[in-house]
Parts: sequence; C-alpha cells; structure tokens
Amino acid sequence: MTRELPNVLSIAGSDPSGGAGIQADLRTFAALGVYGCAVPAALTAQNTMGVSGIFQVPSDFLEQQLDTVFSDVHVAAVKVGMLGSADAVRAVAAALRRYRPGFVVLDPVLRASTGAPLLEPDAIGVLRDELFPLATVITPNAAETGALLREPLPRVADAAAAAAAAARLGTVARCAVLVTGVLDDRGEPDRAMSVDVLYHDGKTEELRVPRVESRNTHGTGCTLASAVAAYLALGRDLRSACAAAQQFVARAIAAGSRLHVGRGAGPVNQLI
Ligand code: PLP
Repeated sequence: MTRELPNVLSIAGSDPSGGAGIQADLRTFAALGVYGCAVPAALTAQNTMGVSGIFQVPSDFLEQQLDTVFSDVHVAAVKVGMLGSADAVRAVAAALRRYRPGFVVLDPVLRASTGAPLLEPDAIGVLRDELFPLATVITPNAAETGALLREPLPRVADAAAAAAAAARLGTVARCAVLVTGVLDDRGEPDRAMSVDVLYHDGKTEELRVPRVESRNTHGTGCTLASAVAAYLALGRDLRSACAAAQQFVARAIAAGSRLHVGRGAGPVNQLI
C-alpha cells in the first residue's frame, strides 16, 4: 500500500544561489518524502559570499499568495523562515490565524550567516507578539535566542544555561523551543558534539549528534526547521521530529563535500 504524501508549505525568503531559504526548504521536503509548496515573502540577491540586496514582496501580494495556496491545498505543516518586515510578519500571522494549519515551525531568522540583517529591527517585537503564539515550535540558534530574550549571548554559552534560556523563551512564547548550536562553557562550539536543546511541556532536553566539521554550513537553520516541519507532517511527535531533523542536518553537512557552489561559505546538501 502506498501512503499519501503530506503537503508542507515553506513561507520564507528566496536565496537565488540555492543554499538557504525556500530553495533549501524545498530540497529538504523532497528528500524527506513530503510534497513541498513555497510562498516567498522576500527575494534576496545573494551568493555564497553574502547578501547584496533584499526585495520585500508587497504585503498585499504576500497575502494573496497565502490565501490562494491555503484555500486550495490541505497544508499539514508550515515552516516559516525569513520574513523581512513587520508587514510580512503581520500578513503571515493573519493567514495562520485564518487557516490554522496543524503544525507551525517558526525559524526566527534575524541575520544571514554572512552577517546581513534579514529582519527589520522594528519587526522583532511583532514577530514575538503575533507569530510566537501561533507556533508549535520555534527554532532559534544561540545568537537569535540571546537577541529574542534581549540578553547577552554568554547566557546561552553552555547547555544548562541554554536550557534555562529556552525555557524562558518558551514561557514567553507559550510554545516549544529548539535552541540550536549551543556553545560550550568557554563560549565556543563543542568540538566533538553538536548540541541542541529542546524545551517542551515544561521540560528541557539535550539532543546531541557527533559534530561534522565543515565551513560549508549555509542553510543549516533553514534545513533544520523544514526537516522538523516535514517529520511532524509525517506523524512523528515533536521530540522525535527534532532529533531526526538534527541527524538529517548532520548528514546534509557531511554530504555538502560533494557540492562546489561559489567561492564563499557553501551550502549543505540535502540530496543525500
Ligand atoms: N533565509 C534566507 C532567505 C537566507 O538568505 C538566509 C541566510 O542567508 C537564511 C534564511 C538563514 O540561513 P541559515 O539557514 O544559514 O541560518
């Protein structure tokens, strides 16, 4: 008997060099066996060296894309990535309130790995107030966790502190939190293990996989969040979805050695 593929929607930015954003999300969905839909909220001009420009999709057209997809497609899970502006955040929140998809995985993208800001500063509060209450789980990295809590990064510089920060963020957001890329107690990435901390149902738990060393890690945040959305759509519980997504990202980083894309920080390879 063949199982039906669930539909998963990415609402995110476009990275024309293919490493991050909706391009990475769609490859992740395909690799994990779900059908991918994608609504771009912003177009970036970028390559492996950096972001040279951002074109915000006008919010009435963003709304039109969302209405057109949601009114026709049964969406099992949504991944939300780069939105760019406060208006885009409001448009996405309105659509999620209207159509109530089963799962919402929110990657609170604030900056590109190359440093360029990907969310206007005035939109951070709107993201917290409007989108966090609609999320099943949010997936900030350590730096985003510090920024969202308005706390300096050292507070999440070890797994225990990261767990406490995730719990505080979860209490503010009233949803589960997966803090990714936790640093060790010297404030550096653990050399042997990659550590994420999951807060859900009032508990925190460390998820660990052996670290895969690579300078080609562009798109890891996008890949992780879209893998969590895909695994939830496939019926896994949240802990299992997060653990499987962490392992998928580690394999995608390792498989990145087969890609030769540009001269800067290269992408991970979801097509394992
Ligand atoms: N979304 C878009 C459109 C981006 O361009 C980027 C980074 O460049 C991100 C998300 C975040 O990327 P990462 O998965 O490397 O954190």
